[in-house]
Amino acid sequence: MTGTHSDALISRRVRRLETLLEERGVVAGAALDEVIDAFLSGASPANGARVTARAWTDAAFRARLLADGTAAVGELGFAAGGVQTQRLRVVENTAHTHNVIVCTLCSCYPLRLLGPSPSWYKSEAYRSRVVREPRAVLEEFGLRLPPDVEITVWDSTSETRYMVLPRRPEGTESLTEPELAARVTRNGLIGTAEV
Ligand code: FE
Repeated sequence: MTGTHSDALISRRVRRLETLLEERGVVAGAALDEVIDAFLSGASPANGARVTARAWTDAAFRARLLADGTAAVGELGFAAGGVQTQRLRVVENTAHTHNVIVCTLCSCYPLRLLGPSPSWYKSEAYRSRVVREPRAVLEEFGLRLPPDVEITVWDSTSETRYMVLPRRPEGTESLTEPELAARVTRNGLIGTAEV
């Protein structure tokens, strides 16, 4: 069986399951659509890592990414899909600013670029505490930031998703783009780790 046939088959099966779940009132259609789109399009933190490595090695791409995340990741083939199109905003860590993402209402998350979200991201504890005491929460993740680094917490909505652009580690000047991408972790893209 070719890849295309197999994809179509999986796609049909997933859609059938989706209809069943919706009919029985198990899940809301929009939320499910998002998860299924992410699944079918190969959602993985490797995607966010690829975007990051490109931004580290291509200043023009980095500028476009920060100006319009949705369009820039589209250049790498990560076009916004699905029923509802979400805007992607990429926020950049620097020597003086650190960004971290959350969805205080539920669990909105840039699935396509980061893969399935970790359970702690959806937890009540993370959602409420990271807003009130980000520094303390980051320390619990093992990320101790200098006191002069300002922390900004970005609260996702149904329209806007965020991804953190981590700082490029020191001493990586000779690494290739794929080698750089391999350094990037999912938590780095959420902002609960440095890379
Ligand atoms: Fe949410």
